[in-house]
Amino acid sequence: MQLSGFYDARKEFLGNIKTEDLQTLLQGGKYLDEVCTTIKTLTENNPKCGGCEYFRYCVGGCRALAFGLTGDKLGSDPAKCAFFKMDYYEKITALFDGWKNLAPIGSE
Ligand code: SF4
Repeated sequence: MQLSGFYDARKEFLGNIKTEDLQTLLQGGKYLDEVCTTIKTLTENNPKCGGCEYFRYCVGGCRALAFGLTGDKLGSDPAKCAFFKMDYYEKITALFDGWKNLAPIGSE
């Protein structure tokens, strides 16, 4: 959805719900190729994320933001890099002091 403007500006369409049924669109084809990126594909093509200490929590971030901000669909999401590498995780965690964090970084 975040890339819909990108495709619209280029007159590219990933499918047409008016002419194809939703089940067919969601089970394969161009749409699925665009929205699904496996962890294996990402780490094989993006050594920065593959070697990142936060990968387990971030998984490379948002593909739409990575593409929109870097031009690389398999690139690193700069917003998530800022979040994890500029201490925003700690800052936000501190804001919610007293709340239970069900998945803190560093937990198994
Ligand atoms: S997007 Fe940034 S923080 Fe997230 S895994 Fe990649 S390099 Fe690490």
